[in-house]
Amino acid sequence: MGEVLYEGKSKLVYRGEDENSILIRYKDTATAFNGEKKEELIGKGKLNAEISNIIFKYLAEKGIKTHLIKVVDDISVLVRKAEIIMVEVIVRNLAAGSFSKKYGVPEGTELRNTIVEFSLKSDALGDPMINESQITALGLAAKEELEEMTEQAFKINGILSDLFEEADIRLVDFKLEFGRAGGEILLCDEISPDSCRLWDISSGEKFDKDRFRRNLGNVLDGYKEVLRRLKNVRQK
Ligand code: UDP
Repeated sequence: MGEVLYEGKSKLVYRGEDENSILIRYKDTATAFNGEKKEELIGKGKLNAEISNIIFKYLAEKGIKTHLIKVVDDISVLVRKAEIIMVEVIVRNLAAGSFSKKYGVPEGTELRNTIVEFSLKSDALGDPMINESQITALGLAAKEELEEMTEQAFKINGILSDLFEEADIRLVDFKLEFGRAGGEILLCDEISPDSCRLWDISSGEKFDKDRFRRNLGNVLDGYKEVLRRLKNVRQK
């Protein structure tokens, strides 16, 4: 693997095949509340890698530009090296999590329209919410880039909401990261139960990281169920 270029909360970054690529390895570490809660969940890296790879490949088939070049092994992917835009894009289809808390809306409340919101990607500051004029004022992204990210976010939401619905799962909300490479904006990072809220449509059971955040138990059983169902619908 060579030397670690960067270590994040849930991933390791290594040199890639050339200066335009990097290798990302998923770790088993689970963190929440800005790293305050931390545990090793053996097998999480492999589950998230496989789930995210299925999703990224599916999005690429649907015309979304992503950083994924190829799957290297069950916890490693080769991706295009991109300059990460330090803004997290959050899409919400139902009220949950911080939105429910901040605005006093019960979790699961239907929304009259899909919400796209942004937060500053900063562990030190606890990822505070940030609006478009604040983002452009700080030079984090240009107006055109934000428009592109927002358009992609809506498109990805449509594609993935349908995919998960086929798997009898409600895509409640999720977080996206984008990066710049070769004059393009690419979808980067991962899409997995660590970065999405995924509820069983029939029972409402949670299959995502809220099991870890809220000590609901059997965290990885939820992730395994997501993978099992995604494989089922993708093999059809
Ligand atoms: N999310 C994430 N990383 C973050 C913040 C949020 O992946 O740093 C995901 C989270 O898993 C959920 C969605 O984005 O699917 C919305 O999260 P929310 O703003 O409700 O924050 P949370 O309740 O997770 O603190």
